[in-house]
Amino acid sequence: MSQAQQLQNPAADLFANQTALITGAGDGIGKALALRLAELGAELVLMGRTQAKLEAVDDAIRAVGGKAAVVCPCDLATLDETQADSIMEGIQAECGKLDMLVHNAGILGPRSPIENITLADWAKVMQVNLTAPYVLTRKALPLLRNGEQSRILFTSSGVARPGRAYWGPYAVSKAGTENLCEILAAELTETHTMRVNSINPGPTRTGMRAAAYPAENPNTLPTAEDHIPAYLWLLQRESSAQSGFCYDIWPLPLNLSRLVP
Ligand code: NAP
Repeated sequence: MSQAQQLQNPAADLFANQTALITGAGDGIGKALALRLAELGAELVLMGRTQAKLEAVDDAIRAVGGKAAVVCPCDLATLDETQADSIMEGIQAECGKLDMLVHNAGILGPRSPIENITLADWAKVMQVNLTAPYVLTRKALPLLRNGEQSRILFTSSGVARPGRAYWGPYAVSKAGTENLCEILAAELTETHTMRVNSINPGPTRTGMRAAAYPAENPNTLPTAEDHIPAYLWLLQRESSAQSGFCYDIWPLPLNLSRLVP
């Protein structure tokens, strides 16, 4: 059986004894990924803006027999180093390590010409999509070094490279994310066994996509669940995935031979 087929029906303990922090875990792709990793044995740290959504995901995890998650409400728009330090101290106390860090949370920001974008809107998108993942990564590295062959996964977008007109700070933040991923992967391969990648999920039936394309029929799009095998491939310990790449998993169905460089 190919690795792609195995990921449609993975071993029930594929992520047993592994801990994953997912940002934006209360909705969309992050929620689907959190539920699946928990089903496959992982302990989850659920980070997101809305506590009630995170608690609902924790309830759903326990309903399928998963381990109770660590619920970590956090507005990435205001995250600073002090708050990141205390989040990591909490994870250290609860879990002792991190095996996976998934930077999934993101905001769209205004879709308009650069000329019309205010500094406040620009700064907010950069903070949530790029600066917060940088701060969280830096502060999480000691915990990731306690994990085994740890994995960091950033989230990019098809509008990042080449930059697309009217996608403003969102596109710039995603291009920066890919660059951050490449730099970090190159630095970490010198001394550690950590795998650092970025994923572009492509068009997905979520709230963000509906906000970006309000006239589109969502039923024509893949669901967040449809993308989960690709995420499992990038996150599992033993994988043909390399480090330092932006994996563009679109179009479906998942074809790993297309992705392996
Ligand atoms: P989504 O359904 O809008 O979910 C985004 C998540 O990010 C939500 O859980 C949200 O929390 C969280 N979030 C937003 N702002 C936050 C903040 N300030 N602090 C903490 N959490 C915050 O989006 P999605 O479509 O699943 O997107 C997931 C990732 O995929 C994003 O990075 C996006 O750029 C990328 N992506 C998506 C598509 C697509 O077609 N959907 C395509 C390419 C790339 P709340 O629910 O509490 O607000």
